[in-house]
Amino acid sequence: MARIILGLGSNLGRREGNLKRAVRELTAAGIRVLKVSRPTASAPAEGVGGGEFLNAALLAETNLEPEALLDLLQRTEARLGRPASHRPGEARTIDLDIIYYRDRRLETERLKLPHPRRLQRRFVLEPAAEVAPDFVDPELNLTLEEIARHENRQ
Ligand code: ADP
Ligand code: MG
Repeated sequence: MARIILGLGSNLGRREGNLKRAVRELTAAGIRVLKVSRPTASAPAEGVGGGEFLNAALLAETNLEPEALLDLLQRTEARLGRPASHRPGEARTIDLDIIYYRDRRLETERLKLPHPRRLQRRFVLEPAAEVAPDFVDPELNLTLEEIARHENRQ
């Protein structure tokens, strides 16, 4: 089984319920969820519509390969009411991203690993460090705890 860290976000509807439902759906689909972070609130990123975001991260294990995992996340987003062809910047009931897939590095049109914007986003890093403080970022060769601590000093 591959160890993964997923990022979850919602800024539309019952946000906390959306995050919880996403965790339930992923579990039902065979993802072995080990730990879920507390939700953290943040203002929408520049250019993203809608209200305040709730974000969380989860540590899990899966037998799915990265592309199949992304398929599952996108199907789950659709089941939770996110339109498949959403416009950039549109508010979303749920956003599910692969932050890390083991120490895999990948760059295709559909899938970039680790997630390219993880380091700039406190609402990704802090929950990820909460669920997996000792996980080593394959590009920086630092643990998530070290990265999050560094971010906090800025
Ligand atoms: P964002 O997550 O940046 O708010 P979207 O959820 O609409 O925006 O994702 C846009 C595209 O990002 C998706 O169609 C997906 O193919 C691509 N993508 C690339 N790398 C990843 C990743 N690690 N996790 C999730 N989606 C990714
Ligand atoms: Mg996404």
